Amino acid sequence: MRDRTRCVVTPEVDETGFKSLAPAVHRASTIVFDDAAAYATRGDRGPDGYSYGLYGTPTTRQLASKLAGLAGAARVLLVPSGQGANAIAALALVSAGEHVLIADNAYPAMRSLAVEDMARLGIAVEFYDPVSPDDLAARVRPETRLVWCESPGSSTMEVQDLPAIVAIAREAGALVGCDNTWATSLALKPHALGVDIVTEALTKYAAGHSDLLMGAISFADESLAAGVRDAMGRMGMGVSPDDAALVLRGMETMAVRFAHSAEGARRLVARMAGHPAVARVLWPPIEDSPGHDLWKRDFTGAAGVFGVILAEGASGRLDAALGALRTFAIGASWGGTRSLIAPMSVGRTRSVRPWPGEDLILRFSIGLEDIADLEADIDALLAALGAPARDGVPR
Ligand SMILES: *Cc1c(COP(=O)(O)O)cnc(C)c1O
Repeated sequence: MRDRTRCVVTPEVDETGFKSLAPAVHRASTIVFDDAAAYATRGDRGPDGYSYGLYGTPTTRQLASKLAGLAGAARVLLVPSGQGANAIAALALVSAGEHVLIADNAYPAMRSLAVEDMARLGIAVEFYDPVSPDDLAARVRPETRLVWCESPGSSTMEVQDLPAIVAIAREAGALVGCDNTWATSLALKPHALGVDIVTEALTKYAAGHSDLLMGAISFADESLAAGVRDAMGRMGMGVSPDDAALVLRGMETMAVRFAHSAEGARRLVARMAGHPAVARVLWPPIEDSPGHDLWKRDFTGAAGVFGVILAEGASGRLDAALGALRTFAIGASWGGTRSLIAPMSVGRTRSVRPWPGEDLILRFSIGLEDIADLEADIDALLAALGAPARDGVPR
């Protein structure tokens, strides 16, 4: 072997006796084959075989397998973001002339995908009341192909009656998909309730460190997964093994982080409920949160993500009050180590069930800081929200 070739070809080393607890990062676009016959038949290797980097490496397969075990799924596919999971799942399974029903509280990008893209492709799109199975039943048609759920819903936190929704969809011959990003498979396993397709933004709790984007689509049934997997190949969707390795690392501490986040939320929610600057707290574990009984029936835990509706007049002081925060950061997303607050406008993203009351919801995501520091921040925030206006005009 000449020097220039030596530079190019990396020698194989004996891996016998090497066993690490850390998953290896297998990077690949090209995958090489032992002989011409193996190359010619690479397409026959099936969903667990390797043929090209886009369709998976041992690192991405390890992550998919870990997620499938946790979700009780037949197969998990990885996509470049949480919204990518929603979009691919919906677009790969629905055709022109068919009808899709989407929960009125769904993630805003999912709503836009329905209104902009599905409609453009000739798919009939309709929203339904997330907390009324009767409303859903009245809207289902013979051509309904997919009923989309998100439980609890983005920002407004209504828990849906998934078994009732599954029963209605089954009778109509429709599939049920559910965005399970809030609960993760730790607190809710939608496949066990009959949901066909479950999506999760791994960006949030699974990755857990606010440094990457990834999504998972899990399937109760392998045959449904095969069609979506093929469509992903045609659309060129895959994930980086480096990112997959980061999610694998994140997941090792996920259950501990998730529990800490929920405990922080429990303490902060208790501090805020009843304060004069707070009209209502939206968090499924508290009794007057929408769908609390369904949460108790179906879920085994809660994410440390909740919404706060401010008392009338208090939202006028919000910008100044956010300036009082020392430990919380201001920003969207959730499930990372840092606690976050994001003011969200919810009224404009609804069409079936108008959101009653204040348009603004403060969304909290509790991270891993010392809860006493977060409590001090909340006290400062509440004090600033409750203070009389600086110009002396009472509100
Ligand atoms: C964050 C989020 C998404 C989108 O995830 P990205 O990885 O940011 O694209 C989808 N659904 C829900 C409920 C989310 O919270």
